Amino acid sequence: MLKFATIESVATMTQDTFYYKPRSYQTIKRWKNVSSEEWQNPLWQDRNTIRDVESLSEIIKLTEYQKSEIQRTIDTLRAEGKESMRITPYYAMLMQEDVFHPKMLDGEKASRRLDPIFWQSVPTPAHLLFPTAGKEESMEEGSRSYGAVYQRYPNRVAFFVSENSACATFCTHCQRTKSLDSSSFIGELDIQKGLFYIAHNVNIDEVLVTGGDALRIGKKRLGYILGELSRIAHVRSIRIATRVPVVMPMGVTEELLTVIDQSVNKYNHGPEKMVYFMTHINHYQEITEDLHAAIQRIRSHGYSVRNQTVLLKHVNAYYKTLATTFRRMFWAGVEPYYLLQCHKEKGLMHFITPIQIGKIFIKHLQGWISGIYKPMFAANVEGGGGKVLLMPSGHDTVHSGLTIEDNIYDGSAKVMTWDGRVIYDYEALGRASRKEYANAVKIMDQFIGRKDCFLPCLNIFDKSGEYIETTNRGWSLIPMLSNISKAKLLEYEVKEDETPITNPALIEEKLNTLFYDSEYVPGKTTSRPFTDKSE
Ligand code: SF4
Repeated sequence: MLKFATIESVATMTQDTFYYKPRSYQTIKRWKNVSSEEWQNPLWQDRNTIRDVESLSEIIKLTEYQKSEIQRTIDTLRAEGKESMRITPYYAMLMQEDVFHPKMLDGEKASRRLDPIFWQSVPTPAHLLFPTAGKEESMEEGSRSYGAVYQRYPNRVAFFVSENSACATFCTHCQRTKSLDSSSFIGELDIQKGLFYIAHNVNIDEVLVTGGDALRIGKKRLGYILGELSRIAHVRSIRIATRVPVVMPMGVTEELLTVIDQSVNKYNHGPEKMVYFMTHINHYQEITEDLHAAIQRIRSHGYSVRNQTVLLKHVNAYYKTLATTFRRMFWAGVEPYYLLQCHKEKGLMHFITPIQIGKIFIKHLQGWISGIYKPMFAANVEGGGGKVLLMPSGHDTVHSGLTIEDNIYDGSAKVMTWDGRVIYDYEALGRASRKEYANAVKIMDQFIGRKDCFLPCLNIFDKSGEYIETTNRGWSLIPMLSNISKAKLLEYEVKEDETPITNPALIEEKLNTLFYDSEYVPGKTTSRPFTDKSE
């Protein structure tokens, strides 16, 4: 039986539910007279997005200094042509009021954490740190594109139908932060060229309709694109990528789903196209009743929903957080599909983890949660390398004498891409000098108001380019966890003589006593009729 955290620790769950329960929006002065019809209206949500610090400070506690630092970040990014903050009222309400001292589940070391929604949606000075450690647009999607399609693999393409600047909420960890700039525009010619190429290349059997966010284009445009794809016989499956269920679940409307229903097979004469949704949940604090309702609406139209979680230091790169997130998203109808290493993109250095960390988390989830709750861990290799699986194996090569735990803090790895390219020194982490690192931590300690909270992982190099160390080496103690500690972290109730971790046969006598005392004894109650005999 699962034991949920106490009300004091998270104030969000009861024994009956697994949802995160945010504060009521009516506790916020500016929204106190907003009706629930307005709140549930996606147009209202869009019109009332949070785009400035003053509005944000009505929702969360910010000191004058914190406000000025967020403003400094927004201004600096704006000077680079990026609009960095847009948060739907719904998503803003998922933030706890005191984002600098959030309540978390038992065992999550809340004292070292900030609110995960805050980290994902509010630009902080962390985004301005280490400006030369990773390049802009490191995925180089433009270099493998034709019109609005981008092809990395032989049988499928990503079809960029909307700009990132159309996303309902701007994610601070977005790999395409560059394209949050409002100058990017996907016009008719790009779309038509994309459709032409998909029709032209008979190997393309799957199209990822994405952006930005596929559900953030007009219904007419979405209907047109899906309808045109339905004409192409060799396209067998369509994946719709969207974060709307997470950041604005009321945007998943029956009307929109009906447009999809009516378009995806509109001109198709062959077998029905397989359609599924891909969303982006990173933390259990995003798994609310509203999200669950949006997922149920999608599933009721016959579409399955899968998820890509990005492994983000300071947000979800903790064993318990990840395990809880994967389990709850599955309970809400979303299959955890990928856990992705964060890109080495300018402005995202503080989110990146050594790749061994994700590998170790996945290794320690093996057996402890169902395989279907457990995503594949992978890195999207910059420059068009595609996904490289980083899954741990259940064995270590005997002759190397190394286990993955031995290499836990390494900042580099040898990886092989799907098309056989070997990258011998794939550096997952950004680089910094000692001075730059110390300065960055000082800036963020001052912003947060305490030490030991902002602990990014970077490879420290000296002036001559020699590797010195990887920072924050003592961060993960996961490999040392005992079975009992893991069970506790996963909120499994373990009672030595009543609820074993496994193998009930070991306590058969005790279980027999409890069983013969229970209502499960055949014939003991009429409220549990066993019907086999009459069938
Ligand atoms: S919804 Fe996706 S594309 Fe849009 S900002 Fe967030 S991560 Fe980027």
